[in-house]
Amino acid sequence: MPASHRNAHAIREAITRLNDPRLARWAAQIRHTGGCRQPIHLRGTVEHYDRATGRLLHRYSTNQEPDGVLRVPCKTRRASRCPACAETYRADTYHLIRAGLTGGKGVPESVSSHPCLFVTLTAPSFGPVHTRRERDGRILPCHPRRNRETCPHGRVISCTVRHRADDDVLGEPLCPGCYDYTGTVLFNAVAPVLWKRFADALRRHLAALAGLTLAQLREQLVVSFAKVGEFQRRGVVHFHAIIRLDGPAGPATTPPAWATCDVLTRAVQRAAQAVTVTIPQLAGELARVLRWGTQVDARPITLTGELTDQAVAGYIAKYATKAAECAGTLDQRISPTQDLSCLPVRDHARRLIAECLRLGAYEELAGLRLVQWAHMLGFRGHLSTRSRHYSTTLTQIRAERQDHVRAEEITTGRLPLFDEDDVLVIARWEYAGRGLSPGDALVAALLGSPAAVLAAHGGEAR
Ligand SMILES: [Zn+2]
Ligand SMILES: [Zn+2]
Ligand SMILES: [Zn+2]
Repeated sequence: MPASHRNAHAIREAITRLNDPRLARWAAQIRHTGGCRQPIHLRGTVEHYDRATGRLLHRYSTNQEPDGVLRVPCKTRRASRCPACAETYRADTYHLIRAGLTGGKGVPESVSSHPCLFVTLTAPSFGPVHTRRERDGRILPCHPRRNRETCPHGRVISCTVRHRADDDVLGEPLCPGCYDYTGTVLFNAVAPVLWKRFADALRRHLAALAGLTLAQLREQLVVSFAKVGEFQRRGVVHFHAIIRLDGPAGPATTPPAWATCDVLTRAVQRAAQAVTVTIPQLAGELARVLRWGTQVDARPITLTGELTDQAVAGYIAKYATKAAECAGTLDQRISPTQDLSCLPVRDHARRLIAECLRLGAYEELAGLRLVQWAHMLGFRGHLSTRSRHYSTTLTQIRAERQDHVRAEEITTGRLPLFDEDDVLVIARWEYAGRGLSPGDALVAALLGSPAAVLAAHGGEAR
């Protein structure tokens, strides 16, 4: 449909909506979605029964709602899919991370005295890429080489440019022919295993430094962590983690006196250097052992100074809403038969995706599911994870907000105020679609929801 026809159609739809006698209720639904770009439509009923007599006390059905559906926020954490819901996720993550550093949300304040580090584990080099480096506030030349050697592809492996922060070339290899795409993709694929091995080795090294067995260590302390993965522009994942030592029962208990930031730092360094993942030898390929890069950054988190709890929580929360799109790739799956040349990504990302598809054909690597995770450059699993003891959970934080919403619904007369113990609630819901039609997006924008303006200008409506 030509754009002018689409606009005319959207305007007609918008006028119908504005004349709908249930416009106010529709607007309230949209307001409740908090500016979600792709609200989920639910159809269903909620019935409240008296537990003692079985009498139906109240029945809610979406039949009474505009279009017969209830619109709820999509709750994605991906900023690229829905800015409004990702913002909620970011804010929740911030509070959760912050609680683990300073207390709150059920975590005692004494947690702030526990040894706690901000650790960055990066991948090794897979070949020189254009980078922006700073020293003492000055930008350094990218890759200056005096002998200006040429590689087998006839390229000079040197770059003396002082790159701007928004330079498109950042993260691109100096020679794509020399760059180790296989290593990059395999590293992404095994990064979650490498992390798991690091976490296990950390406990072993802590025990060794204290002269304890693992079982004895467990009686004295637990290691709590929250981590977030981030894609560097070269398309490889790295991790930032908060690693904290607690007493044996978690954040409410005190770790032993020997467990200092210093001891933790040493254990982190040793564990990071010790762990590896071996890739099975493939026909025509080199055998590979993957490990973390040599640069392991571990710094104490403090309440004042350079690396504060607020800075760390802000950082982790920000990256929790991003996926591989930072590296210039896609946020949806790629089919193996897709024409990669049509994908709207950088050449570097396209090569990494192609490498995932190529390696995915090897039987020996089937467990890495490289084809399914090609859009994530081989990385699967969660970009942000926490250990059980870290602090509260997102579910808990969401439940608090839900309580708040529920209180509001009760006051506006939508839900009768029953005592939970005496009332049985039976809810039946089914998925009935998602998104805002172009006309609805227009009306939502008119009603002053900023994210809806975005949806009206390019958000998909299904
Ligand atoms: Zn949303
Ligand atoms: Zn450069
Ligand atoms: Zn080359």
